[in-house]
Amino acid sequence: MPAADNPATTVTSVVPDRGDKAPAPNPELLDDLVVANRILFDQGVVDGFGHISARSPKDPNRYFLARSLAPALVTEADILEFTLDSEAVDPRGRALYTERFIHGEIYKRRPDVKAVVHSHSPSVIPFGISIVPLRPVYHMSSFLGTGAPVFEIRKVSGMSDMLVRTGEQGRALAETLADKSVALMRGHGSVAVGETIPQAVYRGVYTELNARLQAEALRLGGPITYLEPEEAEKATVANNAALSRAWELWKKRVTE
Ligand code: MN
Repeated sequence: MPAADNPATTVTSVVPDRGDKAPAPNPELLDDLVVANRILFDQGVVDGFGHISARSPKDPNRYFLARSLAPALVTEADILEFTLDSEAVDPRGRALYTERFIHGEIYKRRPDVKAVVHSHSPSVIPFGISIVPLRPVYHMSSFLGTGAPVFEIRKVSGMSDMLVRTGEQGRALAETLADKSVALMRGHGSVAVGETIPQAVYRGVYTELNARLQAEALRLGGPITYLEPEEAEKATVANNAALSRAWELWKKRVTE
């Protein structure tokens, strides 16, 4: 039996009580989620705002997300468990992220998604408010090859404060995302999803970098050669096989 699974060596002393009915937390997952929060800040994807969640490996109808807090300050004790309706299983009196519905509604619609990043990373914003679609300019952002649709909150809420505050708004965003890896949010930010925490983080980082490079290429003028869908598909296979290299580097920067 691996040490982590041995009841005699559980780490319950550092994991807050989640109540009788909540599934036991996965310490490794929570550790990765804390690291992911810090990486996203270190890599310039989130600032004081934005968040990342992970679906519970023990119950696909639950996910983990920090209490309302700047991502770089998140520790394991700040992470709460949520239902897919984005209600905290045991809120412990903590303030919650207003936009948690982004996460729950994407998990409902996308069984393949195990982690969700929401950010306001700046280079992406122009592509959500102009007629220029975000497209992959290099192999690292090949996951954009299937498209990056733009969510228009006016269609569901008219004149709003731009925040995804309800399940209805979150559902509309999840519908816009459909089967893609990334959706932009007009005048707000974006979401990136993944089958793992490192993959969602990778997509958040390279969505921002692609946006920066695409804008630079557009400023050069003339037609731009983007990755063809077939190139993007092949590059994605290669990138997925090499994800851990970037993750380990990013992790080292925020844990040492
Ligand atoms: Mn937001």
